Amino acid sequence: MWQTNAVAMRAGASQGSAAGTARGAPNYEAMLIDSPYFPDELEALPGLLARAGFEPDALVATHADYDHLLGRVAFPDLALGMGEPSVVRLHQEPGAAQRELRDKDAELYVERARPLALGHVQTLPVPGSIELGSEELELHPADGHTPDGMAVMARWCGVLCAGDYLSNVEIPMVEAGLGDYRATLARLAPLVEAAETVVPGHGGPHDRDTALRILDEDVDYLDALERGDERPALPKGRDTREQRRIHAENVERLR
Ligand SMILES: [Zn+2]
Repeated sequence: MWQTNAVAMRAGASQGSAAGTARGAPNYEAMLIDSPYFPDELEALPGLLARAGFEPDALVATHADYDHLLGRVAFPDLALGMGEPSVVRLHQEPGAAQRELRDKDAELYVERARPLALGHVQTLPVPGSIELGSEELELHPADGHTPDGMAVMARWCGVLCAGDYLSNVEIPMVEAGLGDYRATLARLAPLVEAAETVVPGHGGPHDRDTALRILDEDVDYLDALERGDERPALPKGRDTREQRRIHAENVERLR
């Protein structure tokens, strides 16, 4: 019914974790980035991860859209880490994520045991980095889809979690500035070059070449959007009625 991605990541224990703690840098052993959406997926997740040797001690959301914030449903004892712009957005739009989740659930006939509670939210440095075991996760700003957003780069294992960018199933959804969106694609390009696997928020994980192709297609799409094309050629695989609807919304927002 929907394609959303959550990424679990872990790294070996840090030799220098005491030093890391002394510097005040957060240090974790296993992390869940973004979240599944459906209640049965969230219920199955802790057991599924544990059997694969992942015991998350940290949750991270790439941005403050409701479909990325559900990690605490699976791991209620953990705080949710987000970049400062996402934390600011949550404060500026109190209850918005909860309302949007409720509306989507109603549309999809999804029932939940309880409404979404964000609990303790932890502000992460963006741009910046956090320690995962003995390794480092880079946090890069990624705004334009929304006014907040970050991409998470795990350089040691070649994985880039792009948030809601570089999707093979969704055209760029430009809810913040077109210029910001372009700047984010430019910032992501060298990260994609350095990655082996790129995981978008929605759609499939890509190898580097596929992600670079999608990035080019998205730049072309933004050009067409900026020209105000009513019916631009949409990329192969994304030329659907739903994506035409998203395009019409993009055009409307930029008017
Ligand atoms: Zn999303």
